[in-house]
Amino acid sequence: MGASAHEAPSGATRAERAASQLVELGVDALLIEALVNVRYLTGFTGSNGLVLLVSQEAADELGAHRFLTDFRYTTQAAEQVPTEFERQIVAGELLEALAPLLGEGGGRLGFDEAGLTVRAHRRLVETLPRGWELIACNGVVEQLRAVKEPGEIARIRAASELADRALGEVLEGGLAGRTEREVAIELELRMRRLGAESPSFSSIVAAGAHGALPHAEPRELQIPRDVLVTIDWGALHEGYCSDCTRTYATGEEISDLARETYALVLEAQERGLDAVQAGRSGREIDAVAREVIEQAGQGEHFGHGLGHGVGLEIHEAPRLSRTASEEPLVAGNVVTVEPGIYLPGLLGVRIEDLVVVQEGAREALTHLPKALTVIS
Ligand code: ZN
Ligand code: ZN
Repeated sequence: MGASAHEAPSGATRAERAASQLVELGVDALLIEALVNVRYLTGFTGSNGLVLLVSQEAADELGAHRFLTDFRYTTQAAEQVPTEFERQIVAGELLEALAPLLGEGGGRLGFDEAGLTVRAHRRLVETLPRGWELIACNGVVEQLRAVKEPGEIARIRAASELADRALGEVLEGGLAGRTEREVAIELELRMRRLGAESPSFSSIVAAGAHGALPHAEPRELQIPRDVLVTIDWGALHEGYCSDCTRTYATGEEISDLARETYALVLEAQERGLDAVQAGRSGREIDAVAREVIEQAGQGEHFGHGLGHGVGLEIHEAPRLSRTASEEPLVAGNVVTVEPGIYLPGLLGVRIEDLVVVQEGAREALTHLPKALTVIS
């Protein structure tokens, strides 16, 4: 976000920072329906909540920012939601309780197209007071979330350390002869024992040709010797996700193709990591890593983007890909760098690290070694 006349002062709350953009967006209030954004703005972790952010200019007429939930969360909301929000306990649909808050003066209500279902949008149109207009305002909170505060980075760092440790423990038991599912379950169990709330997504453990599926589901099949196994996993800790991938060999006798593919992905990954810096765009960084794979003639086998932001959600802004924005990354972005090569029917390799973007050299949050390692 560039500087603007309405920029919030430093030390502003997240709600103030979001609300400071409303005038520029041409709206009097912004409806926040996605729970992850409600959580980001208010700290509320329940399953039913809604925020109405009010622009400073409309505050005289509309009052304070609102937080709406239902009676199950009365106590939790009082504990979690700060007093800059006027809390309201609603019987029935939260969206239906919006209209009376908007008043009869008319105005413009922003909403996020990605967060609102078609049905909810229709209902809103039906219930809005006369003179109120709905305006699409996408990604306001997502843009704020993309730049992490130190406390958020600390949580992601802790999640990453925990996930690294859990995999280290699992690998002590070896890979060959166990099923993909057994390995995945043990990994998830160990993450929980080490303090994770849960995995940050369903763990991927994919051996041999199964590794050619970027989002492979772990199978009840024994992992053979002398193949590659791709493990993609992460922990959820204090609401924040980690994300990492390593590919291991289950014996010294893997094919030359497997070794060559591994070396190529590793080179692309390290080049990509070196390119991660504030001031460079996600598109530019993707191109650096992709070029390594393309020059080796494997471009068509690297079909996904180089990386993505990670935070309260496992996939969030900013993106590193061929179609990503040309906007430069900024210090405080937390992104993955995860090139892969997928050879259908043969094998797959992916290597992924999670890093904090800084003005100078990035900070890595994932630390497991990347030289091709045999875990039999
Ligand atoms: Zn991953
Ligand atoms: Zn990832």
